Order: sequence, then C-alpha cells, then structure tokens
Amino acid sequence: MTTQTVSYVLDSQNRIISTGGVWDEFADENGGTGSSLKDICGRSIWDFIKGDVTRMWLDSVFQYARAIGKTIERPYRCDSPDLKRFMRMRIIPEKEGVLRIEHEILSIEKRSAPVNIKFGQSTVNGVNQRCSICGRVNMGEWKEPHGDHDEVSDGIYVIYTVCEDCQLLMPGSF
Ligand SMILES: [Zn+2]
Repeated sequence: MTTQTVSYVLDSQNRIISTGGVWDEFADENGGTGSSLKDICGRSIWDFIKGDVTRMWLDSVFQYARAIGKTIERPYRCDSPDLKRFMRMRIIPEKEGVLRIEHEILSIEKRSAPVNIKFGQSTVNGVNQRCSICGRVNMGEWKEPHGDHDEVSDGIYVIYTVCEDCQLLMPGSF
C-alpha cells in the first residue's frame, strides 16, 4: 500500500497557510464540501472541525505542541461508511507558532456492512454522541458502530465530542 499523507500548515492563529498531499481526493471521499485548495487556504482550521469538544481537544493539542516545541503524534480514526481508517496525526511545531499537521493512513479495514453517520442536532431525540478521535458511538457505553444492527439501518445520527478515554490523551493529563 502506498502511504497517503494529507498535510496542512497553520499560522499562529490556526489559519491554513498551505496544504499538501491528496487533500482534494480525501475530502471528496469523506463527503467533504467539495472544498478545493484555493477555498481552504486562508481559512481557519476550525471551519473544518465539527463539534465544540473536538475543537477544544485539538486546540489544546496544538497549544501544547507550540509550548513544548516538539512533535506530537496521536492515533485516531477517520472512517467512511464502508471503511475503517486507522490514522495518525502528527503535529510538528515550526518557527513563530506555525504548525505543520500531517495525517497519515496507517491501515484500512473494510466493514462487513456500511455505517452511515449523519449529523444530528443535540435537541433531537435519538442523537448519539460520537467520539471524533476513536470513532466510537455512545450507546449507553462507547461502542464501535456496526452497520448490521437493525436500529442503525437508516444511519446513526450523531453529534461530535471526545470520549473519556480519548480525553485522557489530552496534554497535561499524562
Ligand atoms: Zn474516543
């Protein structure tokens, strides 16, 4: 398998300065907004991150990387309906608060049945919390979503958060 890396560079205000890798392809496959590179550059990274808790988590990781001036690596998941994608995010501090963020696909598994994740609203019944980092869904306990359950045949409506286990990876907690 060829290594696929998506990368972007953030200025000290977390605005995207430049991007690299197979970004377009990646965004399209994940139901992205069809953003092309020219639309992405100059915008805040937070325009592309769903969920307040996820933003706070990432923001604290970014700040930590800047503070210690060392590369931080975090495993996470970036699934599509048919695939489980095991990813690694690498945050590399450069000069003057600039961060280079690299996302690398470590491995991919095909799902036995597709899982359709839809964005819900917290005010609607039947909306589950989903962890942005490990991809698990809170259904009483944090579980890997499966497409072959009756109750999710229509898709799983979620709002994004960071589960307790992944919050333990937050800077300052280790
Ligand atoms: Zn998690």
